[in-house]
This record gives sequence, C-alpha cells and structure tokens, in this order.
Amino acid sequence: MSFTSFLVVIACAAAVALLVRAEKVVAQSPVMAPASRSHGITAAQMKDSMSKLEAELGKKYGDGQAIRVRRGLHQVMEFWRPEDGDVSTFENFVRTSFAGDPASLDSMFDRFQRLLEQLDGHMHEISREFRNQQDLDLGPVRPYDEVFGGYDPSAHVLDDFFQNKLAFTVLLNFPLTTLEERINLGAKWTRREWAETRLAQRFSKRIPAEVNLAIARAASESDQYIAGYNIWMHHLVDDKGQRLFPPQMRLLSHWNLRDEIKADYADTQNGLAKQRMIEQVMERIVTQSIPQVVIENPLVDWNPGTNQVTPAAVRDTDTPAPANMKVTNAPEPDTRYAMLLKTCRAARLADPYSPTAPTLIERRFNEDRELPEERVQAMLERVLTSPLVPEVAKLIESRLGRPLEPFDIWYNGFRPGSKYTEEQLDAMVRNRYPTAEAYQKDIPNLLMKLGFRPERAQYLAAHITVDPARGSGHAMGAEMRSEKAHLRTRIEKTGMNYKAFNIAVHEMGHNVEQTLSLNDVDYTLLQGVPNIAFTEALAFVFQGQDLTLLGLAAPDAKTESMKTLHDFWGTYEIGGVALVDMAVWHWMYDRPEATPEELRHATMQIARDIWNRYYAPVFGKRDVVLLAVYSHMIDSFLYLPDYPIGHLIAFQIEQQMKKAGSIGPEFERMATEGRVTPDLWMEHATGKPVGADALLAATEEALRHVGAQP
Ligand SMILES: [Zn+2]
Repeated sequence: MSFTSFLVVIACAAAVALLVRAEKVVAQSPVMAPASRSHGITAAQMKDSMSKLEAELGKKYGDGQAIRVRRGLHQVMEFWRPEDGDVSTFENFVRTSFAGDPASLDSMFDRFQRLLEQLDGHMHEISREFRNQQDLDLGPVRPYDEVFGGYDPSAHVLDDFFQNKLAFTVLLNFPLTTLEERINLGAKWTRREWAETRLAQRFSKRIPAEVNLAIARAASESDQYIAGYNIWMHHLVDDKGQRLFPPQMRLLSHWNLRDEIKADYADTQNGLAKQRMIEQVMERIVTQSIPQVVIENPLVDWNPGTNQVTPAAVRDTDTPAPANMKVTNAPEPDTRYAMLLKTCRAARLADPYSPTAPTLIERRFNEDRELPEERVQAMLERVLTSPLVPEVAKLIESRLGRPLEPFDIWYNGFRPGSKYTEEQLDAMVRNRYPTAEAYQKDIPNLLMKLGFRPERAQYLAAHITVDPARGSGHAMGAEMRSEKAHLRTRIEKTGMNYKAFNIAVHEMGHNVEQTLSLNDVDYTLLQGVPNIAFTEALAFVFQGQDLTLLGLAAPDAKTESMKTLHDFWGTYEIGGVALVDMAVWHWMYDRPEATPEELRHATMQIARDIWNRYYAPVFGKRDVVLLAVYSHMIDSFLYLPDYPIGHLIAFQIEQQMKKAGSIGPEFERMATEGRVTPDLWMEHATGKPVGADALLAATEEALRHVGAQP
C-alpha cells in the first residue's frame, strides 16, 4: 500500500497518527536468502557487471532504450544488498526482467497496476474487518479485538517485494523521480507517465527492519510522554491563593490548555485572569522551568507566576501521589527536548535508505506534501507579513475592548451565533435519521441537493456504506474498485443528533472524494488526491452545506465573513508555529550531537525570533516563546506545516466552488484528477498553483464587509 494513498484512506480523525506511521514506514523483518548470504556482490563487481549489461542490452534493444537501460541498472544497484544475490543472480535478473520493447513494457505496467490494486484493496479489506469491533458500535472490545485492530497485514509487503525481486523489476523498468523533476517536468507528462512515476515511487525506499523498529520505538515513547502531560487546573493558585479553575479539571498540554484559553473568552468575570495564567503555564512548559512535580499531579498546588509549589490544600481526586513525590519546584529536566531529539535521531537512521529524499525534512516536504520547503516557507511568510494582519488585530482589539496579549493568537470571538439552537437542530436531525439506514437511504437525495446529477448521485451512493460508529465518526475509503467506501457515523439510541449529522456530512464528502478518486480516475496507480489537505478541503465543502441539506437557510454573508476572519487569524497563528517546527528540525539536523539543554536554548531562541519578526509588531510585546508549545512538535515528526497549508488549500477550493456556482460537477471534475503534485492538481482545479491568494482575497473582502457593519 503506498503511503500517501494510505494516508487519505482514513481521513481526519487520526491524521497525525497516520503521518507518523508513514514515517515509521512498513518494512520489517527482511528474510535473507540463505543461498546467497555468503556470496553477495562487491562494488567493483557491480560496476563491471553494469557496463557489461548496458552494452549487451543496448545492442539487443537499440539506442532508443539506452537511457532506460542505464537508469534502470542504476536504480537496481542502489537498492541491491548482498543478500539479494551474487553477480550471476544480478545479471540473470536484469537480463530476464528488462522490458525492452513497448509491448512488453505495456503488459508489465498493466499487470503491476492491476495486481497492486488487488493487493492494496484486499490488505485494506482485512485491516478494516480486523478493526470493526473497535471502530463500530458492536458491544464490548476484548483484548484480542485490540490485537486484531493493531495488526497490519501489509507490514511486510515492501520487504517481501524486495526479496522476491518484484520491487527490483519495477526499479529496473520505471523511473524514480525527485520532487524537482515532478514539478518541472510533470506538467508535460502523459497520464501514463504519471502513473509510472507513482508506481516507481512505491519502491523508492528500502528501510531495514531494525531502523523501522527504532523509529517506531521513539514515536511511541514520545507519544506516551505527551499523552501523560496533564495539568490539574484546580491546583493552580494565584498570588492571593485563589483557584480560578473548577475541581477535577485536568487539561492535556497543549490541546486542552489552548482550547481552555479559547473557551475563556466567554467568561466575562475570570476569563482574562485564567487566560493569563494558562499563558504562564505554557511558557514554563516551553522553557522547562515547570516544576517536575506538578505534571499530572493533583496533590500539589502551584503558582505558575512565582513558580512556588506546596502540598495540595484541597483534594479533588483519589489519584495516588506519584512514586517518591517530593514537593519542590525542581524543574522538569529538559525531558521535552530529550524526547524531541530522540525522534530526530531515530528518523535520521532511515536517511541512507531513502536515496531520493535523504532527510526527514525532505521526506515530509518532497514526498508527503510534494511542496518544496522554500515554497511553503514563502507562502506562510506571505500570510504572516500581510498588511491584513494589523487590520484584523485592530478589529479584535476593538471587539475585546483592550490591547492584545500574546495568548490572543488563539482569539476565538469571530464565531457568530447560529439562528437555530442546538436543541432545535437535534430534533430536526433525530426525526430525519433515527437509524444509520435512514441516513444511508437519504444519500442520493443529499447529493442531488449538492448539485450532483441524479444518475451520478445514485452511482456515488451505491459506493458508500453507512455503519454505526463507536466514536464520533470517520470515513474509510476503499483501496480497490470492487470495494465500497465506509461512512462511520454516531447514532444515539434516540437517533442521530445535529453534531453527528454535521460530522457525517463531512465524512460523506471524504467518501465521495474517495469513490471518485478511485473509481473514476484513469489509472488506479493515481488513486487519491495529492495529500491530506486536499481531501480535508473537499470534505469541508460538504460540511459547510449542512444547514442547506436540512432545508434551512444557508449561512448569511456576515456569518461567512466572520468565518473567514476566524480562519485567517488561525492561519496567522499556526503559520508561525509551523515555521518554528521547521527551523527546529533544521537546527537538529545541523547538530547531530546536540544535548537536550542545547536544543531547549535553540528552540526558545527560534520561537522568540519568529515571534519578534511576525507577532511582536502586532502584539506590542517581544520575546514570547508560546509558538513552541505545540505537542505535535515533540511527537509528530514535522507535521505542523500541514495545518496552515491546509487552510490555504481549503480557501482555494472553496473559492473555486463559489465561482462555479454548483458543487456537484465541480467536485467531480476536481476529484478525478488523481494523485499528481499539489500544484498541478490545483492548476487543473482552479487555474492557479497552491498559494495564499485566495485566503488573502477572502479576508480583505470579509474585513470590508464586517468593517462596514459593526
Ligand atoms: Zn476529515
């Protein structure tokens, strides 16, 4: 299963986990062929052999094949290991596996395409079935269900394909490419050439089992560290000893802390004091001046301003004290940065086995995102330095009635109230969809309301199966054309509620994209969309229509403008966070011997520099380190840039939908382009490459609109 296509299979819910998993890659336990173990092949032998074969095959197939022969030999050589066989094995393999005329090459291409679809499709089918007890509302989950759910039947496929030499057959016959080539030449490639490119890419890495294991271990260790990083809020005290937060409130860093800052805008009494206090907590996490003993511990009280720690004066839980608890404010000993360093060191182990993208930074940008880092950097800087930033900031200040403070990067006040109460909407949805079957039956109707022609709506609906989910819902696409996409949705005993409906519409967007981008694409090797941001953007187009689908009035222009300003401010915030993540990874790559303490200093300096450049002029305060508080930075292997890129892409797609007027046909046109580069996809979809223009234009218009009607 190709990594990128796997990524878009189960969208949204587990995007981070999936990306991390993509980095963990698949190959495990390479089984050595005993007969060849002792022989192998030396570099000198390989070189001789290659010149000999080049001449031989050139003579046999003519000059027209010379470039293919040379490239194929080179690609095979790069991945050939001693256990793959000696000189005669190598030479025999090349002689029998090179497709030197168009007809044999066509057969090879067709066969690989067809069989890999079968492999991916059935592997995915097994995974889906194995996960059903965990994913669906089917009663208790037994320990063995969890083992089934965690089992990946495709884990050894890549290893197997190198061992049985199917991977080498591909490498001998189809071109490996760099991102630069895909960008510079891709626009002129035929669709078949694109499909060949994706075929070869599946075998662009051969990572040994022990390296994958080390990466998995580092990922899981850092995951655990992050998952246990809770702050017990009732035990935060201010200078007067007051507790601002309710008993038992336990917030995971950074997600829950940030979301509490957002929620506190609604608290007119203590909101500001709470927000300032959370900001202090976050800063102490970044600077590691946070006392070790206050992490995940309700038995001490902590004043994050003075950093004083005392035994808890109130008790709000039965949680036992951590082992050997000493009530002191001794700081957390740079564990945060030690974890981050470990993930980086583990990721680097894969570098030598990934010749076309030999660093994690390149694998993230050039392979997962397929957007060069410099371009992403430039797009983000364009948003961060936009003259619209101070204008929106001014608007926020006037709405807050005070100057901005650093935590206002998470300002949450552009969300307009709805015309309908949650109860009204719940009643409406419950009535319509008492069961999963009721939603299933209504899919063609919903799709027609979105502008799909009746026969297309029927066709798409026939490819989607609705299952009652255990969690809030997710979309699971198929990996072969004979399988259906699955829409998992939450159904309460009393029927579906509005929140579940809103999510179901989003997931249905994923399912429709998944169906079109598998069944209606000319080559299944091009199945999917360029990266996660695209499938999310398409799903949001559906989700934004949820009220219309209930037969209610669509959001008005003011609501739309508020949403745009909300998204713009969110992009401004996360854009800086992404730049910090990127700079920190470069720093780590440049200094393989760094200590956790040095990494802490560097991270703080990077966060301050980026703050001072893009935020200090707007917030009137320098040297803030908040941008480095995101937990993804520690355990997600350079994932953060996906968020701001996602916002930009979503705006481009949304704007195009508006221009086209009707969603259905436009959605079909976009989703059948397949997995080419993001820029090529976007040019086909909107006439422009990926960029910040659409977001900035929408923001300017929203500002004018909101400014005109205070
Ligand atoms: Zn989603």
